[in-house]
Amino acid sequence: MTQPIFLIGPRGCGKTTVGLELARLCQSDFVDTDHWLQTHAGQSIAEIVEQEGWESFRARETATLEAVAAGAGIIATGGGIILSAYNRQFMREKGIVIYLCAPVPVLVERLEASPEEGQRPTLTGKPISEEVSAVLAERDALYREAAHHVVDASLPPAKVVQNIVTALHLACA
Ligand code: ADP
Ligand code: MG
Repeated sequence: MTQPIFLIGPRGCGKTTVGLELARLCQSDFVDTDHWLQTHAGQSIAEIVEQEGWESFRARETATLEAVAAGAGIIATGGGIILSAYNRQFMREKGIVIYLCAPVPVLVERLEASPEEGQRPTLTGKPISEEVSAVLAERDALYREAAHHVVDASLPPAKVVQNIVTALHLACA
């Protein structure tokens, strides 16, 4: 694998879960942009947003994307990474972009089962199902625009990984 693989999609679609498994299978590096950003900032995303606002967080997110893309590996991105046209183009040119696509009820069920406490402030202040629905309605077209491949992320993680390996003709199955 010579170029990075970017996993994109909304919260709960499995970017971290699938990314870790794919990296293990392909003996590749794995980076989570949210995790990298928080470690380097020494603050949680919630703290950054609270203290500096979303715009500042988004600027840090782009800087993170550029930093982690320097290496070839599996990169799990934050759900809003595709809001920036710059980020979308950067990922498409720099590597292979995969949209982990799952319907709203699947995402809601996963988020309700593991709410990721403190990970991210709610985007809209609405109940989880309304928020997931609103966020996906806003972003689905952007995920598709950014992606080279769209995979069904409602399947079990091992199957999602297998479908990525097949779609990309990766020699690590
Ligand atoms: P993301 O990084 O995209 O926000 P995660 O990988 O953290 O998503 O997954 C969110 C939750 O959903 C976790 O509890 C995880 O175990 C579960 N999950 C992720 N992918 C799948 C899958 N393909 N099938 C079932 N559960 C999944
Ligand atoms: Mg994640």
